[in-house]
Amino acid sequence: MSISQELFHKASTLIPGGVNSPVRACKSVHCDPLFIASAAGSTLTTEDGQTLIDYVMSWGPMLLGHNHPKVAQAIAIAAAKGTSFGAPSRLEVELAEAVVQAVPGIEMVRMVSSGTEATMSALRLARGYTKRNGVIKFHGGYHGHADAFLASAGSGVATQSIPGTPGVPQDVVKHTLLANYNDLDTVRALFEAKGSDIAAVIVEPVAGNMGLVLPQPGFLEGLRELTHNYGALLIFDEVITGFRVSFGGAQKIFGITPDLTCLGKIIGGGLPVGAYGGKKEIMSHIAPSGTVYQAGTLSGNPLAMAAGLATLQELAQLDYNDLAQRTSSFSEELEKILRSKGVPVQRNHIASLFTLFFTDQPVVDFSSAQTANSDLFVSFYQQMRKQGIYLAPSGFECAFTSFAHTDDDFDKTLDAARKVQF
Ligand SMILES: *Cc1c(COP(=O)(O)O)cnc(C)c1O
Repeated sequence: MSISQELFHKASTLIPGGVNSPVRACKSVHCDPLFIASAAGSTLTTEDGQTLIDYVMSWGPMLLGHNHPKVAQAIAIAAAKGTSFGAPSRLEVELAEAVVQAVPGIEMVRMVSSGTEATMSALRLARGYTKRNGVIKFHGGYHGHADAFLASAGSGVATQSIPGTPGVPQDVVKHTLLANYNDLDTVRALFEAKGSDIAAVIVEPVAGNMGLVLPQPGFLEGLRELTHNYGALLIFDEVITGFRVSFGGAQKIFGITPDLTCLGKIIGGGLPVGAYGGKKEIMSHIAPSGTVYQAGTLSGNPLAMAAGLATLQELAQLDYNDLAQRTSSFSEELEKILRSKGVPVQRNHIASLFTLFFTDQPVVDFSSAQTANSDLFVSFYQQMRKQGIYLAPSGFECAFTSFAHTDDDFDKTLDAARKVQF
């Protein structure tokens, strides 16, 4: 038995499913998880001493690569001065300033400790601000695990949603309305039916949790217009896209300014950080300047702020276009290799993100993403992992590249793909 397997067996007696976040268990790819002992640059090293080229990058945060020396140093310096104060500190102001300067829609920002906290708090603020209850989200959109966002559709988009998990009361998700990504008509229909009680539309401006799905021209513009017309807030969940698709996020690329923006992942540089921000006029409704309550014992934690700040300072100097182009050529080559083996492939790509879907249909929303063949993905995943290539263990995830990925990493990955047999 490998050390990873031994640890997994022990973990399974102590932690539900042996993991602290479900997808890590690798169940859908019929594998046991690898236990990671260390990470550096573009690679992970397992407890068994196998080194793999990583395309998960902690699910997005590690855009600079693992264990970046500047980030590690910033954390060490902060740690030497005390790990938590429960009182304001300089680094919070500096990270807030960096975020406000970078993200067009953020004039004021509140730090929290995860993406889940960011979206949950942004929704509370939107509800408190508009004095309405409803929220529109999209099928296949993931916004963390707060109750309001764990709804899946009943028989159709206009029907009331049903909870996506036991433990979420129907009473809570009855305010969650579901629309189809890239389909403004489904959003418009919900506004026409219930517009006076819709507080917000929450959307990943580039969807990253049904695999990668890009917004079609006019989609984000349409959301901006509809929310404006009905007095609802537009919330961009940029937990994946913030500081990844561009330094200012997806809103900078597409030129659409939301009312509220949620951040996470990259702004923590690998430590637990989330943030939500927006127009001053709206953000000032948060306690203690306003009445909408939200708090956190470890919010603005000095280690986390130091890691985030060092990450943003480093990213500000790097060439996003170059990484985007390298990721594009690499993923295109990967697509060609798979096609040459006679399997159907659709490639979606932006910046340092891509997904190869094993389907013939263009993937533009959750239902087209679901046409992807999961048996082909499982086989691909397993054969790549054996050869030292670490992909996300689900066909509905993005592959993440980083500034630490070299052309040699890409070449090795392509060589491994050439050896895959379907
Ligand atoms: C990861 C993610 C979240 C949740 O963030 P956590 O830090 O895991 O709570 C929210 N929204 C999006 C778009 C995400 O990808």
